Amino acid sequence: LESPLYADVGGDLEVSFEFFPPKNEKMDAQLWDAVRTLEPLGPRFVSVTYGAGGSTRERTHATVARIQRETSMAAAAHLTCVEATKAEIDAIAEEYWAAGVRHIVALRGDPPTAGAKYASHPGGYENAADLVAGLKRLHPFEVSVSAYPECHPDSGDAAADLDNLKRKLDAGANRAITQFFFEPETFFRYRDQLAAAGIDAEIVPGIMPVMNFASVQRMSAMCGTAVPPWMARLFEGLDDHPAARQLVAATVAAELSRRLYAGGVKQLHFYTLNRAELAYAICHLLGVRAKVPAAVAAA
Ligand code: FAD
Repeated sequence: LESPLYADVGGDLEVSFEFFPPKNEKMDAQLWDAVRTLEPLGPRFVSVTYGAGGSTRERTHATVARIQRETSMAAAAHLTCVEATKAEIDAIAEEYWAAGVRHIVALRGDPPTAGAKYASHPGGYENAADLVAGLKRLHPFEVSVSAYPECHPDSGDAAADLDNLKRKLDAGANRAITQFFFEPETFFRYRDQLAAAGIDAEIVPGIMPVMNFASVQRMSAMCGTAVPPWMARLFEGLDDHPAARQLVAATVAAELSRRLYAGGVKQLHFYTLNRAELAYAICHLLGVRAKVPAAVAAA
């Protein structure tokens, strides 16, 4: 036997969690269950997505501001350039600053019509790099941007994609969070490409648990993520078994995370899908435990 199972799990992994803004009361309750369950794990930050075309502008703001106000976690707001002038985007950023939010996940976003070619809004920010520069001009925000281990579909090739990431970092971005991917080698290859391109910024793998295989296949096709054949086999026949599917989803995401950790990755960002138990179980398997406040521990 080479080594005991789980012997490599350490306590030095840092995690962050991504949520989406709720559409109704039921979803609001699910989100806050996830927020409160994951809070004791002491994430570096939690982020809230911005709906396509700015459709969740108010809901994203309300969710981010409430997390910042009512929890011990630092909240980060996703913000895109789509369908808005620079002045409108700047006003949103100013509202975040006034609410004590210091971290923006700055993105270009996608065209309002799925499949259309992206065109920047007249008077708007050109792309994510331009938005990063704009935010940094306003305030010393902490800024995260996206990175694409399998290349963004709009990028001509991997070199153009790396150049784009470099522009965002040169504009002042503090780190990049990757699009989801399913094979650890995909990230390790990307890490080598980044090193060869002289990019030494923090690149945090984004981990997407597969709760619904059909929708993951659709999303993957749109964003250029390869879905390995073994995944179809794993999720086959689980459509009518939601509990089993959740256990398989947690296992697959935890396995990917463990392989990344074994390869030296010390930060992971989880797309939680607003599900408390899934992200909690994955973190637990990785050795991330609730941080007991010093006062409680001493008592
Ligand atoms: P950019 O980095 O600005 O550019 C993407 C690609 O466009 C580049 O790779 C390049 O090919 C091309 N490009 C840009 N500028 C130039 C230029 N000057 N010259 C040539 N080519 C150029 N979407 C949402 O709507 N809301 C969210 O909350 C959200 N959160 C996300 C979080 C993460 C971690 C990730 C990875 C993605 C997220 N997205 C979100 C999706 C994102 O908006 C899309 O992937 C979008 O298509 C690209 O946005 P970007 O910020 O990566 O774009």
